[in-house]
Amino acid sequence: MNSTIEIGSAKADPGSISEGSISVEKLAGGGEISIPVTIINGISDGPCFWINGGIHGDEPEGILTCSLLKKVIDPKKLTGCIVLIPVINVPAMEAAERGNPLDTFSYDMNRIYPGREEGYLSERIAHVHKEWMVKYADMEISIHSGGSHSYLAEAMFAATDEKTQELARAMGEDWKVCLYSNVTSKSPMAVMSEMGRPALTVELGGRSSTAPGKFLEVGEKILKACINILVHYKMIEGEAHYPSIRYKGYQQALLAPKSGVFLPNKNIKFLSMMKKNDFIAAIIDYQGNELCQLTAPADGMIFGLRALPNVTVGEWCCFYAIIEGEW
Ligand SMILES: [Zn+2]
Repeated sequence: MNSTIEIGSAKADPGSISEGSISVEKLAGGGEISIPVTIINGISDGPCFWINGGIHGDEPEGILTCSLLKKVIDPKKLTGCIVLIPVINVPAMEAAERGNPLDTFSYDMNRIYPGREEGYLSERIAHVHKEWMVKYADMEISIHSGGSHSYLAEAMFAATDEKTQELARAMGEDWKVCLYSNVTSKSPMAVMSEMGRPALTVELGGRSSTAPGKFLEVGEKILKACINILVHYKMIEGEAHYPSIRYKGYQQALLAPKSGVFLPNKNIKFLSMMKKNDFIAAIIDYQGNELCQLTAPADGMIFGLRALPNVTVGEWCCFYAIIEGEW
């Protein structure tokens, strides 16, 4: 028999769903920062699968995935429990910005974990979230995307240990690229990895994937991965699927060498092998003169590209995976 789970104001008895929030701080105008939470508590005892979204406020794919998952999981047919945090960085999500506009000192929340109880505002939000996560989570995924500037194809970051790679493989047939990460990333994943618990930073979607139907398509792909994880760990019934091949390597983010208009090579395919020096994109000026070219830094594949053509020198242009082999 499973036990009752309480997180913030949410309290779910075995076989039930409860929605609530985790209170963090009061603000000067009378508003309150609180983190939404849903607990789907299964009927019998088992692992706790924790799903985080919206640590970057321009990445609403986590909200969508959590909303879809909530509809298809029957807690009376679930072993263990699922905790959904659709948005961690609430002020950033409300502003549709990457970071919290109320805190320019710790702007990127995915680089400040485990947070600080008496730190900057975002560090305090991270601290409160982390305390609840480590209390319950046996495994965790954080859902990310290319946000307002880029589109990212199916890729993930993860530690190299066996338990983590089991979770990476459990994402299923569509997830062939798993790049190295480590505890120095200061993300929720890093906190979990440091404690020896499997965790992933998952990327899919972003700008240029919000046209009619496209955003939903992204949510459904991440939903499919979450369901496969539940099946793999025997939390729900079903038959799990796995990728035929999984590539390993590391990310190299290519930054704009010049300001201008970003024009990617129209023949480029995401997640398809390229050779060193292959043409990725050109940047032109306002008269149409080509200012520079971006080329592949090594053999590997593109998993993300800038989707907003306007570019300022030093901004992200291409998320390149330097492939070292197979897992
Ligand atoms: Zn992100």
